Amino acid sequence: MSDCLFCKILNKEIPSTKVYEDDDVYGFVDISPMAKEHYLFIHKEHTQNVNESSSDQITSVYNAIKLFTQANDLSKDGFRVVTNQGKNGGQTVFHTHFHVLGGEQLKAFGS
Ligand code: AMP
Ligand code: ZN
Repeated sequence: MSDCLFCKILNKEIPSTKVYEDDDVYGFVDISPMAKEHYLFIHKEHTQNVNESSSDQITSVYNAIKLFTQANDLSKDGFRVVTNQGKNGGQTVFHTHFHVLGGEQLKAFGS
């Protein structure tokens, strides 16, 4: 039994709205969206943050994001991928995850 929120989502102990799944990666809707479309993509093996993840794990998540955004038209108008790491990065859930934001014009950084 894991204390990790996203491991609980993977184990279906906590419900989520799935948008993507393969052997290694799970994608679901962020519960508190920061854009019209806001998804979280995680590799199924638990690591705390992206610097703890292997190249294979990161590649598997990025490939999933690529497949998902191409299949759902997000690629057409563009989207943003964000990974927060640690306190200064604003990370609040310590299972490595990639935010995928889109569906509207996002503000440029710094504006
Ligand atoms: P971060 O602040 O980068 O660690 O991102 C954590 C994200 O997880 C936030 O955007 C939250 O809205 C999201 N989140 C927290 N709990 C849930 C949940 N039960 N289902 C979906 N997303 C969640
Ligand atoms: Zn976890």
